[in-house]
Amino acid sequence: MNFLDALYLEKTMSGTSTGTVWLDNKGNKKIVVTSPVDGEKFAAIGRASASDFDHVVREAQQAFSVWRAMPAPKRGEIVRQIGLRLRDFKLPLGTLIAYETGKPLQEGLGEVQEVIDICDYCVGQSRMLYGMTTVSERPEHRLFEQYHPLGIVAIITAFNFPVAVWGWNAMIAAICGDVSIWKPSSKAPASAIAMQKIVARVLEHNNLPEGIFSLIVGDRNNVGEKILDDRRIPLVSFTGSVASGRVAAARVAGRLGRTILELGGNNGIIITEHADLKLAVPAVVFGAVGTAGQRCTTTRRLIIHESRYDEVKEHLLRAYGSLKIGNPLLEANHMGPLIDRNAVKAYLKAVKAIIRQGGTIIFGGNSLKGEEYASGCYVEPTLAEVENQFPVVKEETFAPILYLIKYSGGVENGIALHNDVEQGLSSAIFSTNHNQVEGFLSAAGSDCGIANVNIGTSGAEIGGAFGGEKNTGGGRESGSDAWKFYMRRQTVTVNYGQGLPLAQGIRFEIEPPTRGDKYLHEILLKKQEKNF
Ligand code: NAD
Repeated sequence: MNFLDALYLEKTMSGTSTGTVWLDNKGNKKIVVTSPVDGEKFAAIGRASASDFDHVVREAQQAFSVWRAMPAPKRGEIVRQIGLRLRDFKLPLGTLIAYETGKPLQEGLGEVQEVIDICDYCVGQSRMLYGMTTVSERPEHRLFEQYHPLGIVAIITAFNFPVAVWGWNAMIAAICGDVSIWKPSSKAPASAIAMQKIVARVLEHNNLPEGIFSLIVGDRNNVGEKILDDRRIPLVSFTGSVASGRVAAARVAGRLGRTILELGGNNGIIITEHADLKLAVPAVVFGAVGTAGQRCTTTRRLIIHESRYDEVKEHLLRAYGSLKIGNPLLEANHMGPLIDRNAVKAYLKAVKAIIRQGGTIIFGGNSLKGEEYASGCYVEPTLAEVENQFPVVKEETFAPILYLIKYSGGVENGIALHNDVEQGLSSAIFSTNHNQVEGFLSAAGSDCGIANVNIGTSGAEIGGAFGGEKNTGGGRESGSDAWKFYMRRQTVTVNYGQGLPLAQGIRFEIEPPTRGDKYLHEILLKKQEKNF
């Protein structure tokens, strides 16, 4: 397998690194990495022990005092070099991501590009970690804010974006002067190891200490929950399901730590009577079947005005009929496998629930059999006619199931259905009517962290802050001012006058010490000492 060699991956590897040094844990219990593409067990990775975890945190603590002292633009220069290195490894790394997760090669390459983009973005941002200056209410006082590095940032990532989510977090954290410890998903640790090896070259080239970018592959007990409970880690950026995020949030809050939560979505698109279906149909299909429905921003609910319902349904049936499912490394295929057989079970369970709750499967609904699908991870992309209030529709089934939901009346009825779920990540409207679009974007419109007009729900550019509301967790990562959350914010007041006026005009007066008073005070003290 050429791409594995090109990335210097071995069959059996350590899963723990403090930068350039890999801990000798190949002998530990292993995580066996199986490709959902062909079922091959292509790597075995030593799980970190509790003492490995402790070592990694201690190294990170030491590195922090060096890294935070480096001027931010110099840290940006290191990030720039990581971006350059990644360009050299884009093809093999993109291929590995596709092979390990089952996403199409184009999407694997796109994921690497996303990390390159965030590196470029961070180079500029490293010169813009600015705080504001405001006016003081007191004479001869200056009031301003400044941002300082926070410390160790733990980055816990989901399987479906095995390097991009790390990139959004680690590159921002790095320019902010933080050091990071990455715990990737045990379902996709090989891509993380490859990424760490690429970063290690930059660290080595610049003679940087261990502990700035660490990686730790391990299970929940020895690594995951230790991160949540460790007071040495002030910020945990957690990406995963709502259920796991709920546990993580409570544990970190228990020690008054900080979390960035990027949890599950249940993303809807509203197609109004004024939609341009030339734009809407391809956006919906890509949104629903891209990454085999395993994106946090995957389109799961299509809320269609009754006047366009039959037309949209017909277009979708035709488009779904032309989709090719198979090896995602072959460009001709639109959709690859799910991550593993458990995901297939969850998909089949949801299909049964749809039927039991009164819905109709109008396309797909089965797992795929045959030589090409021997890994047991392939399913049919699925269309189901449902009501928005079905319990199964309210959940995020991480699979390519698209729900068709009809609405009648004004766009406000479509918006009400759209918002009637517990998650709040991504949303979209297809309409050429100005009033409908602005209604969707208004305070009474979409309640999600992302609201798109005439583009789908899936995928986002790195320049905007990324994240969602409600059960999606409220975190923001990547662009805009998301960097502020990775820093310690400090409000500073400097008095450059001769008086000491208090805020809010409070009066508190004592005789100011004069030279004579000070002298008297010293004599009194000496007398007291003698008496003792
Ligand atoms: P998951 O919740 O099973 O696992 C996510 C990560 O959390 C893994 O690294 C896992 O090991 C870790 N984890 C789980 N429980 C933990 C615990 N108690 N302590 C410490 N670590 C723990 O999710 P998954 O199946 O890997 O990914 C799919 C989910 O992630 C979906 O719900 C998807 O919507 C969500 N996701 C959200 C975003 C976003 O930005 N909002 C991005 C990608 C994925």
